[in-house]
Amino acid sequence: MQCQAQTWRRVGTRVVLVPTMGALHAGHCALIHRARKLAGNGVVVVSIYVNPAQFNDARDLRSYPRSLAKDKKLCRAEGVDVVFTPKTLYAKNASVFVEETDVSCSMEGGSRPGHFRGVATVVVKLFNLVLPNLGIFGEKDWQQVLLIKRTARDLNLSASIVIVPTVRESDGLAVSSRNVCLKDDERRQATVLWKAIVLAKNAVRSGSVRGLKQKITLFIEKQPNARVDYVEFFKEQTLKLMKPKRGVRMALAVYIGKTRLIDNARI
Ligand code: AMP
Repeated sequence: MQCQAQTWRRVGTRVVLVPTMGALHAGHCALIHRARKLAGNGVVVVSIYVNPAQFNDARDLRSYPRSLAKDKKLCRAEGVDVVFTPKTLYAKNASVFVEETDVSCSMEGGSRPGHFRGVATVVVKLFNLVLPNLGIFGEKDWQQVLLIKRTARDLNLSASIVIVPTVRESDGLAVSSRNVCLKDDERRQATVLWKAIVLAKNAVRSGSVRGLKQKITLFIEKQPNARVDYVEFFKEQTLKLMKPKRGVRMALAVYIGKTRLIDNARI
């Protein structure tokens, strides 16, 4: 991959990378479309790698959905030039990892220790292998986007970071590889994440934000299989916690049965 990337760089080919963990869906397709547009005559690379370093739970890693044959077909149909599917990216005794110490500490970082160290490390590795001009990421993982921007800035990575808005099902549920893990009844309950965001937006508009976090938690946990991990309101660019008001971003993580879902939006 790196040899090919060096050849592209030598001849001035524009390279756009879409890093994924596979089980591709409409959200990934939106990233690929943007990549295709931005690449022009250049190349779009989609990487598919379920990165063990970002899983803090071995069972979660084992059960993560995988559909490589289908993913490759979809990439072909979407005009992807190269699908990069490394078997492993780590030496057995790998001992260097990327650790961000500000925007990665709260929320997903708090609930999934080591997760963002794995994410930052794999993104730096993928960027070193593919040498992209642009890396495309989803707003769906807002904290991850901030982490990657910070990593790119502080480690002088040469790629620019592009953010694509969250793709949702018609009932508001953010499209996610993990949605296939939901049983029918859980799938119905999962709409509560988006409904909670709408509730927050309405509360802010009507100025009734007192005890909002608690209200939202109670609202979500009315669903029989839903358990809130966190609900937070914060300044978009710094993740500094804020009182809910217009322009602030809300993020939440909710277990629906055994499946952990996340979502976020500006309220
Ligand atoms: P993943 O395969 O889950 O690691 O996701 C790969 C990329 O797709 C990440 O940049 C995600 O933020 C992005 N992504 C996942 N779901 C969505 C979605 N529903 N809308 C937009 N981007 C998404």
